[in-house]
Amino acid sequence: MGIVDNLQKIQKQIPSHVSLVAVTKTKPDEMIMEAYHAGHRDFGENKVQDLAGKAERLPGDIRWHMIGHLQSNKVKYLASFVHLVHGVDSLKLLNVINKEAAKQNRIIDCLMQVHIAREQTKFGFSGDELQEVLHSDSFGELKNIRIRGVMGMASYTENSDQIREEFRHLKRIFETLSASVFSNNSSFDQLSYGMSGDYQLAIEEGSTIVRIGSLIFGARNY
Ligand SMILES: *Cc1c(COP(=O)(O)O)cnc(C)c1O
Repeated sequence: MGIVDNLQKIQKQIPSHVSLVAVTKTKPDEMIMEAYHAGHRDFGENKVQDLAGKAERLPGDIRWHMIGHLQSNKVKYLASFVHLVHGVDSLKLLNVINKEAAKQNRIIDCLMQVHIAREQTKFGFSGDELQEVLHSDSFGELKNIRIRGVMGMASYTENSDQIREEFRHLKRIFETLSASVFSNNSSFDQLSYGMSGDYQLAIEEGSTIVRIGSLIFGARNY
């Protein structure tokens, strides 16, 4: 099946309140343009350099999602155009995004990454750390970022009960924050989890943004 067929098949399965970020990492511009011509506008990359290069070459109405680990010293390369930063994992990074957004006269939408997987390698806050950061005075001073919700990656496992439990854990954190720090903030409304292997489960467990690559564009060869 081709890219457009794959995309449409997934779009049909996901409810209208869930958005689909087509993950194009390692994939050439031509593949992105196939999806673009079929009407798709949300694309995600996990490396700043690739994101910036593609954003420069490809149509200006694409909404670019930074889904990977973002280093503070690279924020400047995406601050002028990024649509949503999914993986904010430190207060320091949030400060830098705020500073670069101010230079661009913009407010940048961000998701706070929470560590939900059992693996050590995945980035993100614990629920407690996140509470602490969001209650800090310095967070309150950041005017050029807007926290839209949370993001996470489940463990790399075939055990769907475990994946489900990890998604639930993230949803509970989201709900706690919704009822506390963000109780007067209706723009805190996004949950980004679910990839090619677990997006249906993720939607069942409350995801509002799924990030899907290989199921649309085929397996990646690194
Ligand atoms: C690569 C990647 C995805 C998409 O993975 P697939 O399994 O190809 O769908 C989603 N989220 C993040 C953060 C990624 O790095």
